Amino acid sequence: MEMNPHESAFRPLMTPAEHALEHRFIHVVGSKVFIDNQPAEERWHQHFLGMHGDVACWGIDVPDGEDPGYGAEMDLRALFGRVSETEWAVAGRAVQLVEWGRTHRFCGRCGEQTKLADTERAYVCQACTLMAFPRLAPAIITLVTRGEGDAQEALLARGANFPVPMYSTLAGFVEAGENLEQAVAREVEEEVGVVVSNVRYVASQPWPFPHSLMLGFTAQWVSGDIVCDPVEIMDANWYKRDELPMIPPAMSIARRLIDDWVYQR
Ligand SMILES: [Zn+2]
Repeated sequence: MEMNPHESAFRPLMTPAEHALEHRFIHVVGSKVFIDNQPAEERWHQHFLGMHGDVACWGIDVPDGEDPGYGAEMDLRALFGRVSETEWAVAGRAVQLVEWGRTHRFCGRCGEQTKLADTERAYVCQACTLMAFPRLAPAIITLVTRGEGDAQEALLARGANFPVPMYSTLAGFVEAGENLEQAVAREVEEEVGVVVSNVRYVASQPWPFPHSLMLGFTAQWVSGDIVCDPVEIMDANWYKRDELPMIPPAMSIARRLIDDWVYQR
């Protein structure tokens, strides 16, 4: 999987670079996307997303009832793995910024109309000046290991909401007032009853469902038998490298954490 920072030649900017040679328009239809090299309608609101190499990328807020792709639009989950990781992240950014615009037309404090700020990406209330920035919810995802060498095992769990019998790393949102290491330890203990230490950051991935940033970690088991939280976890077990169950697809950060572990010896 590509997670090389140099591969992501996408730069989130406020205005298009002057050398933009091409434009790409990511039409956001509901929460689906339809990508074209020209806008279906100039009058629809456009959010500039940034530059992908020399290509200026735009997210277009398609009004309800319009269908510029004649049914060809795809949701982000369906697009996952069909385009490069960078293209997918740009499409996710389009959906998130368009949805942010749709839900911040009025001030959350006084209810008056907002307007986009000139110099930064924010909606500003025209009455009380409250600013609303794009939403981003940090979430941790962790591969927990136990033991050493060939006998080492990883803890993988089947989420209660997984439609297929797939086993993945543990994930959850960061709480206000908590650091990332604390979030890892808390989520692991809440979901499977296991105490961990030696939490180490590995890599991150935007996860636009609806506006998460996944921060990937490894951690080591310290104590405790697996006791699943019945609401979130259907099943969880320790697996050796050569006994893995069905695991998440390539390009997901969960898969990267698992692959790093499998191939590190
Ligand atoms: Zn206000």
